[in-house]
Amino acid sequence: MTASPAAPACDICRIHGDAARYGDLECHRGAHWLVRHHPLPSPLVGWTFLCTVRHVQGPADFTDAEADGFGRAMRAVSAAVRSITGCDRVYAIAFGQGAPHLHVHLVPRFDAEGGTRAWNVADWYRAVERGERPAADPTAVADFVRRLRSTLASAPIG
Ligand SMILES: [Zn+2]
Repeated sequence: MTASPAAPACDICRIHGDAARYGDLECHRGAHWLVRHHPLPSPLVGWTFLCTVRHVQGPADFTDAEADGFGRAMRAVSAAVRSITGCDRVYAIAFGQGAPHLHVHLVPRFDAEGGTRAWNVADWYRAVERGERPAADPTAVADFVRRLRSTLASAPIG
């Protein structure tokens, strides 16, 4: 399935194609991978997506080049998220349900914040979405994006 660039049916293709609305959150766009911050309002500073540039459901349908680069891209972006935020670990979550286009959620996890532990992070996400919990500070998100762009400028990801 290929989405038309003129009228993308896929939400991820739509986001990737809308520089006016989402360009400020984009951190890297290469031959195979696009890295961006979660749209605002964001549940956390540093909630990052590693996406395929190509419209593809997930690893089962990767090209050889995508399969070869996936591990390096995951390592580089996860390490950058950990380094920039100072978090204890980075969760990696991919459902492929909301949009059939791989977008791995890379979520900074701080041990001191019990509300984001394991599956609790889904409750946290929904609470922000419903306005029951404050979203991440947009200024802090912008600072994170600048730092991630800088870090990935020299990272070996395609
Ligand atoms: Zn798509």
